[in-house]
Amino acid sequence: MEKPTQAQYDYLIVGAGLFGAVTANRLREAGKSCLVIDRRPHIAGNCYTRRQAGIDVHVYGAHIFHTFDREVWQFVNQYAEFNRFTNSPIANYKGEIYNLPFNMNTFNRLWGVRTPEEAENMIAKQRDEIKSEPSNLEEQAISLVGRDIYEKLIKGYTEKQWGRDCCELPAFIIRRLPVRFTYDNNYFNDPYQGIPVNGYTELVTKLLQDCAVKLETDFLKDKEALSSLADKIIFTGALDEYFAYRFGKLAYRSLKFVTEELHIANYQGNAVVNYTEGSIPYTRIIEHKHFNFGQQPTTIVTREYPCEWQEGMEPYYPVNDQLNQDKYKNYFELSKREKNLYIGGRMAEYAYYNMDQIVRKALDLSRKLLENEK
Ligand code: UDP
Repeated sequence: MEKPTQAQYDYLIVGAGLFGAVTANRLREAGKSCLVIDRRPHIAGNCYTRRQAGIDVHVYGAHIFHTFDREVWQFVNQYAEFNRFTNSPIANYKGEIYNLPFNMNTFNRLWGVRTPEEAENMIAKQRDEIKSEPSNLEEQAISLVGRDIYEKLIKGYTEKQWGRDCCELPAFIIRRLPVRFTYDNNYFNDPYQGIPVNGYTELVTKLLQDCAVKLETDFLKDKEALSSLADKIIFTGALDEYFAYRFGKLAYRSLKFVTEELHIANYQGNAVVNYTEGSIPYTRIIEHKHFNFGQQPTTIVTREYPCEWQEGMEPYYPVNDQLNQDKYKNYFELSKREKNLYIGGRMAEYAYYNMDQIVRKALDLSRKLLENEK
């Protein structure tokens, strides 16, 4: 009888984004051979940065690394030097400037209150209109910060970002945002925060340095042949696409980025400015050099226009409403039935993960795979 031919690689990893790169790195470190493929012409997925005029441009939107997880922080710091960037976005509402996240600076600017007690009283009065457990984003927002902040800083921004009425959105989205009764403009509560001084592309390059990488290679267009190259497959793309949309398409929000280089040194004085009124079509302007305290003579800014995802566009945010969650569950069940297929990442898990959560998930999956092989 003919001996079955040995596959060339232990693992085929589909997607060279953060999830794929960390998984490949860990498996490779443990002596496994990995082939990483991506249909884009570059590695690093959505955290890809491109250097232009000496500035690292966050091509697929701002990526700020922040985490509670010490192991994750130590892990990424082995592969890149991180700077001390602290995200302190500001909001522009009809020309008025407010600090984010919602904190004493915001409350003072809005109501003239000076002490936490005055601010808490103000919010307590406004929160009164929500009588029961919040059942959607609007009720959740009002019960967190009151109607004034909801109307000026949340409603317009959120409805632009998600293309849906705040009453139809799940409450959990807004729970990402801290509310503080101190004068602290740090957007995140995590103890560790920063941006790689040489950009994310360098970080991912280092993660992948001992792995075979093939770009502009579309797994789904050549599934049979590519699958035969490895014993196991780790797929990080969208599951609905993997299964040829057999239960219908999952909904995503997409973004259009309009980037320009300006011949001035400093356009807006901050890395991120959110435009929170509904009538301005973009949600925010990113000035990339400020992520790295850049002193270049020119600057690069990007306007971010949210839109509904359609085939051919990049999906960014999963729309995690009930209908889509149920649909996703069907795809997930199917994926579990496929032999030697493992999935992970923001796309494949259809989850609104931050980068640190992705690294955590990738460390856990690679550990589990290696354990299983023992
Ligand atoms: N949000 C808001 N106003 C702002 C910024 C954020 O209402 O100025 C809300 C909005 O609903 C958004 C959510 O907070 O979807 C999460 O925002 P975050 O900045 O965490 O989103 P990301 O950076 O992932 O796009």
